[in-house]
Formats: sequence, C-alpha cells, structure tokens
Amino acid sequence: MAQSMTATMKNIPHYRGRFAPSPSGALHFGSLIAALGSFLDARHHQGQWLVRIEDIDPPREVSGASVAILKTLEQFGLYWDENISYQSQRHEFYQHHLDLIINKNDAYHCDCTRKMIMQGGGLYQGHCANQKSLISAPYSTRLKNTLGINHFDDRLQGLVSVSSDFANEDFILKRKDGLFAYQLVVVLDDIDQQITDIVRGCDLLEVTTRQMTLYQYLNINFVRYLHLPLAVTANGLKLSKQNHAQALAPENTKQLLIAALKFLGQKFSLQYQDFTIEELLKSAINNWQINKISQQPNLAEKFIHN
Ligand code: GLU
Ligand code: ZN
Repeated sequence: MAQSMTATMKNIPHYRGRFAPSPSGALHFGSLIAALGSFLDARHHQGQWLVRIEDIDPPREVSGASVAILKTLEQFGLYWDENISYQSQRHEFYQHHLDLIINKNDAYHCDCTRKMIMQGGGLYQGHCANQKSLISAPYSTRLKNTLGINHFDDRLQGLVSVSSDFANEDFILKRKDGLFAYQLVVVLDDIDQQITDIVRGCDLLEVTTRQMTLYQYLNINFVRYLHLPLAVTANGLKLSKQNHAQALAPENTKQLLIAALKFLGQKFSLQYQDFTIEELLKSAINNWQINKISQQPNLAEKFIHN
C-alpha cells in the first residue's frame, strides 16, 4: 500500500508538509528524525515544508527552546518555507472555532476530576454529557463525539486501529486550566495552513484517530499520515525531553544527519565524508523511499555511536 500511494503522490502538485515541535526543550535525535523525515518527504514531492512552534502549553515550555530549535534546524540545512507560525499567538482563532462548536451544541463542559475518570477505568465515560445540574468551575470542554473514528491508513504503518472505547471518548478540546488541547489546535492549524501531509513520530499514532474525528466533524477531507518509527533508549523508552534525551551537538551535525538517514533506512552511495550537509540532503531528497523505513522502533544508540 505504501508504495502505490507514494507513486500516485508524486503527481500531486500541492503537497504541503510541516514540522511542529513543542518548545519544551532542545531538539534531540528523536525530534531530528521527525524533522528530517517530514522535510525529505515534502521536498521529494516538490512540496512546501512549514515550521510551526506549538507553544500552546506555557507550563511545559523551556525558555529559549524555540530559538534553539530553529537554530538547530538551520544547522541541519532544514530550511522552511513561509513564516513560522506560533500557536501562542493564535488563541483568538482557536477560541473562535471552539465557540462555533459549542454554539452548535456539539461540545459541553465537564468538571470530572482525573480521579473520577481513573476510577472509571481511565477513559471518560460521558458523565457530564447530559448533566442537568450546574457544572462547577474549573471545567474542561469536551467534544460530543458521535463519529468515533477507530482506524486509518498510514502510509508507513498501514492499517492502524484503536479500541472503540478510545475512539468514542468525548475527548477534551479545552482543558480545565484554560489551555487549548493539542488535538484541537493541531487540527485547526493544519487545516488553516492547508497541510496535505503529516509526517511525525509514532507517539502520535493513536491520537491521530481523534484528529481525524475533528477533520470529519469540520467536514474537511483528511490529510495523509506517515508515522515514523520512534527512536528509543536501551530500556525501551522513547527519546524525549522528559527522559533527558541529549540535545543535538552542533559539532556533530554531519554525523548526526547521517545517523538519522540511516535510522530512516535511507541508502546513499556517496562517500559522505567528502560531502557537505547541503549535498547530503540533496541526495537524500532525490533518493527518499518510504518503503525503506522500518515500522518498528529502534535504538537511537545503535545509530548515533557508530
Ligand atoms: N507538537 C507535537 C510534539 O512536539 C507534534 C505535533 C504534530 O506533529 O502533530 O509532540
Ligand atoms: Zn465530567
């Protein structure tokens, strides 16, 4: 499936992809994979590649991280098109669209505590959907989820399914603490920026069904998805800012770029020692083949230290 789709996509003139990091820390090898994979796929299809800073969650933000991320992208020769968009500057846009949903009576307030939801098995069971009594502040806002998308076709992972309980959950659009939920803003932004192709890590595989639920609710044709294998640590944890994955060292840019290309299974016959970053990227763009990418997570160490 992946192959035939790639073949037809070559003819699509308006490919628009993006990289959407959260500024909760510097880029590490795992985020380099997502940045590079989305960049190569976009450029291979003569597409645009945008960068969006997902600074929607101030408590998790590390000061200076946005600037550092952009600088690292430039070091790796990953130059973006158009202006960078910052989610922190788009609250009115998000609120406007949330209000439209609320005004159609397709979302409702919920004051359930995390504890109540955990006691019900971890998924929210619709407790406040038909609540007649007053919901007390602070409350979250949940989508009345009548679509319940439970599967999708991924360009690399093939058919991805989630449980129907997960698929049908009235998930959160705005949190109790007043912050917009990632699921809502990512979809509103991807639609607004006319993104056609989302290439990112497998950590977002399951929640993709929620994002598709929102696409369908908003009557927008779905985008295509490609979920890249995660880079993991020796004990199987995904490399992340939370588990202190190392920031990408600028002096190792070329080695790291090669490691990331190998991680993505991409072949290059170049004597790469002799080539610049730009030349390496150019060759990787020309030779990009998604059927060479593993579906499984892989040890970051295996690539970084060899
Ligand atoms: N901001 C999200 C993250 O850094 C990624 C969003 C996306 O690619 O859809 O995990
Ligand atoms: Zn509730």
